[in-house]
Formats: sequence, C-alpha cells, structure tokens
Amino acid sequence: MLVLTYSSITTFRNCHKRYYYSYDQCIKPDKKSWALTDGENVHYAMECYYTGEPVQDILLKLRSRYNENDEKEIYHSVLVHSLFEGYTLRHPANEFESYEPEVKFSIEVDNPNLPEKKFVLTGKTDGRIKQGGKPYLLETKTTSAYNIKDYLDRLTLDNQPDIYLYGFNRMGYSAVGMLYNVLVKPRLRQNSFEADDRFYKRIKKTILNDAKKDTPKYFHREMIYRSPKELADFEEELKQISEDMSQYYPYKNPSRCADWAGCEFKSLCEGGDMTGFVQKSKPHEEL
Ligand code: SF4
Repeated sequence: MLVLTYSSITTFRNCHKRYYYSYDQCIKPDKKSWALTDGENVHYAMECYYTGEPVQDILLKLRSRYNENDEKEIYHSVLVHSLFEGYTLRHPANEFESYEPEVKFSIEVDNPNLPEKKFVLTGKTDGRIKQGGKPYLLETKTTSAYNIKDYLDRLTLDNQPDIYLYGFNRMGYSAVGMLYNVLVKPRLRQNSFEADDRFYKRIKKTILNDAKKDTPKYFHREMIYRSPKELADFEEELKQISEDMSQYYPYKNPSRCADWAGCEFKSLCEGGDMTGFVQKSKPHEEL
C-alpha cells in the first residue's frame, strides 16, 4: 500500500525525480550529510536532557559521537555541543509537565480513487509534551539558514504541522499545536591567522553569549496551530497528493537542485553512475 510521510511528500512536491530516486529506486548517498548528522545528534541530546540526564554527561556523550582526529568532525562537534549547551541555558529540563520522546503515528486514510482504496500516513515526532495542562507535539530543527525570518515564515506554512496534527488527532491524541525549537548553526569563518582551538572557542563563546540574550540569533521557539477546518482541508489535499504519487512521471525540477546544501542526486541527474550511492534498507528509513 502507498505510504506517505512528511519527508516523502516534501520530496515529491519539490522534485518528482528526487522522489523517484529516493522512494522508488530506494537509493541514498553512501555518506550522511552534515545537516542530517548534526540534526540527529541534537535530537539525541534533547531526548537525554528531557528524560533527566545531567547536562555534563550528555555533553560527554555528544563528544564521543564524533571523531576527535578529524577537523571537520571536531568543527561539527563544537557546533552541536555549543548549541545544545546554549539551549539548556534558555530552557530548564523540567519545563514540561510531561514528556514522551519519539512518538510514532500511523493511520489509514480512505481514498476510493486509489487502486487499494486507501493509503497509509505515518510519521514520528520528536516528542509529545504537556504544557499548562494541554497536549502539544514537540519538534526540534537545526538549520544553517541565512535568513531566519524566511525560515520561520516557511515553517508556519509547512506541511509538517498539518501532517502530524492530523495524524495524531486521528489516532485519538488531540494535540493543541506544535512547539518548534529552531537552533541556528552560526556561519562563522576561521580567520587565516586563527588557530583551530581558538576558532572552536570563539564558536562556543559566540553561541553561549547569544543564548543569554533576550532576543537571540541562534535560538528560536515557535508555536504553530491548525484549526479543525485547516486539518479538514488538508485531508482533501492529502488525498490529491496520494493520487498524484500513485501515478506520476519522474520529471526533473531543476529549480530545486541548489536547495539548501544542494540535491544529493545531482550527479545522477547530470548523467553520472551509481558511484557514491547505496541501497536504503527500506523506503522510509527515518521511521
Ligand atoms: S538534481 Fe535537481 S532535478 Fe535532479 S533530482 Fe535533484 S532536485 Fe531533482
């Protein structure tokens, strides 16, 4: 049966060819991107934090996830552990009345126009929380976006809140909204006369100083809501997307090739072979 997730819907909308490579051919680059690695490590640290582990223990564990003999790895380790430490200065570990990490939803949605008359919508949120006695979903994003205002504006209109709130509400968990943490990785450059360890100290100091400000550059929180009418409209949109996905032509969308750090399948679209790609273990590995 056709399975839809936030990632597959976003990929399909952005570029049918990219969707074809990722979800039909089930291939991925043999090396994980730094964006993915940093995001995973921040999620790991957040989960440890909200389940009661001491910050110093989490920082040690974070460091052990990077190779300390590789400059690039050290740079990303410093970024991630500084962002996490900065986050702990702004938000106490006991700020939520309850916290459940990594909660999955999976529902079947009827669509008589599909060969199987229905499809599966599934996903996993970083957490379910309670605040002021009300249930919310929690997500944390790590980004290198140049313009955070644009990033936050896009987040408000993004499909992730629609998908997750619709999915969890259909499962009987009526979340009021989604609380987003957005951690911005600063784009600091190493000066030609600056030693590595001084550069890493500067990164850490910049991030931790920012975390103490009233209006920081690198730490943002947004609460995003959807009304029952918006979720009902989204259900119709979802059905249309499922029909498009069940019968599509994998044409390219060159206007998305340079998005973020660049499309991971660019070499294939340029006529390259499968060097640098491996088979995924399953279409939706993130679940
Ligand atoms: S390189 Fe461009 S056209 Fe090719 S899959 Fe990626 S986004 Fe699509």
